[in-house]
Amino acid sequence: MTAPDTLQSVDARTGQPHGDAWAASSPAAIDVAVAAAAQAADAFAATSAEDRAGLLRALADALESQRDSLVPVADRESGLGPVRLNGELDRTAFQLRGFADVLERGTAHAVVDDPAVAGAPPAGRPRMLRVRVPVGPVAMFSASNFPFAFSVLGGDTASALAAGCPVVVKAHPAHPELSRRTAALAQQVVVARGLPEGVFQCVEGGLVAAGVQLVQAPAIAAVAFTGSFRGGTALAKVAAERPRPIPFYGELGSVNPLVALPAALEANGPALAETLAGSICLGAGQFCTSPGVIVVRKDATGDAFVRTLADKLQALAPHAMLSTGIRAHFERGVAAWRAHGKATPLVDGTAAAEAGATPRPFLAEVQAADFIADAALHEEVFGSAALVVRVDSVQETIEVLRAVGGSLTVTLWGADDDTAEHRALVRAATQVAGRVLFSGVPTGVAVTAAQHHGGPYPASTAPFTTSVGYAALDRFLRPVALQDAPAWLAARNGVPC
Ligand code: NAP
Repeated sequence: MTAPDTLQSVDARTGQPHGDAWAASSPAAIDVAVAAAAQAADAFAATSAEDRAGLLRALADALESQRDSLVPVADRESGLGPVRLNGELDRTAFQLRGFADVLERGTAHAVVDDPAVAGAPPAGRPRMLRVRVPVGPVAMFSASNFPFAFSVLGGDTASALAAGCPVVVKAHPAHPELSRRTAALAQQVVVARGLPEGVFQCVEGGLVAAGVQLVQAPAIAAVAFTGSFRGGTALAKVAAERPRPIPFYGELGSVNPLVALPAALEANGPALAETLAGSICLGAGQFCTSPGVIVVRKDATGDAFVRTLADKLQALAPHAMLSTGIRAHFERGVAAWRAHGKATPLVDGTAAAEAGATPRPFLAEVQAADFIADAALHEEVFGSAALVVRVDSVQETIEVLRAVGGSLTVTLWGADDDTAEHRALVRAATQVAGRVLFSGVPTGVAVTAAQHHGGPYPASTAPFTTSVGYAALDRFLRPVALQDAPAWLAARNGVPC
């Protein structure tokens, strides 16, 4: 058993330690990291967009150059497999370069320029320039389930650096060796580009106190968090209770309802069931976008779809989970569903799985009224588990979505025609989710300018912002209006001083 204030690399597949444990960052070391970030903040904010684009491209190149050493460590610590992890590394490098492209296009520092108008107000006005300035040092909390893309050099780090904000990463203890190696790589790149070391810092926590200290540090100006509802809401409270509260961008868990309308199931039921089973088991269900609530009409087509889904799921064997803690949490969630008087298990291999073996998928069925009435059924079970919710009508489907309340995604299969019912469903889905899909499955989040990865609480603590896609940059740039700015300042065209 590892002491709580130490870090230990553990083989996700065997649960066995790998190498020696090491001490987590001391409170003094966390203070030093934050002080370095604070000291670097002004100089980094004033770098040109081209310089920051160069940094992001160099980080992408470095990550790719170390692929052969990083992926095996990631695989050992996460059990996610080399195919997935190589793809994730590609995505992480793509994302870093994507933010570099955004910087080079000049849109990050685009200015709104209202020329002066002579005369008395309200029509008359001074010249107003709306610019955006970097908020300052960002504390970034990595997630366990994306060792590259939502970790040390993931989207939060990329977008904060693109905005001109130093980053202090809180590494995730589920992949500590990978985090150390990736952080060392990033620090080398920062120094090689002649930037202050404080531009990128990393702390390692063995206790929640490390994260709390980081969020409370006076020099930290914003927090980007990806992780559990429990961790995210605890740290959001810490951020809000500081003497000077700061923005907390928390991307949390989600149940991602998927509505399978009769038209879709009549046209393509068996294939859709197979696709859905694959999505539920992808990465052992360890995706914030994993479909956890499947809404199906109470009719013969719905019955056939649920039977096929159960058969396909039964045949799948998810791989080992990220850590014994996450596995234990999954077992507890499934046990609660199993013991729930109103949920009928349809696929339940988990109880039979041996300790230490890979998990088995779980599927249960519940009637809409019972689902709506019990908030415990609306909580994410992180892993290959889903609830089928049987409904009588579109109206009842809408009530199910409203009961969920907030989700990263809602998927609507079969809403292809413009009808009043489909409009009502789309309205309900857009009120509940940050991304609404009309085909495919929600696992997989494209990095684009239009992407929105966030959603009403409890999916996110900041649903107006996204942690994936290029709009993620907006979280770290604060608007300032410059009134009657001198010519030299206006000529900077929004580039911070
Ligand atoms: P996690 O256990 O919350 O860990 C995330 C980070 O928060 C870790 O650094 C953890 O550090 C810290 N932490 C957790 N509780 C804390 C507390 N009370 N005080 C201070 N720090 C705390 O979550 P995870 O295991 O990485 O990921 C699984 C969850 O993340 C799932 O619910 C999944 O849906 C969600 N997720 C969401 C997204 C998204 O984009 N919305 C993406 C990926 C994953 P310590 O372990 O050292 O405490």
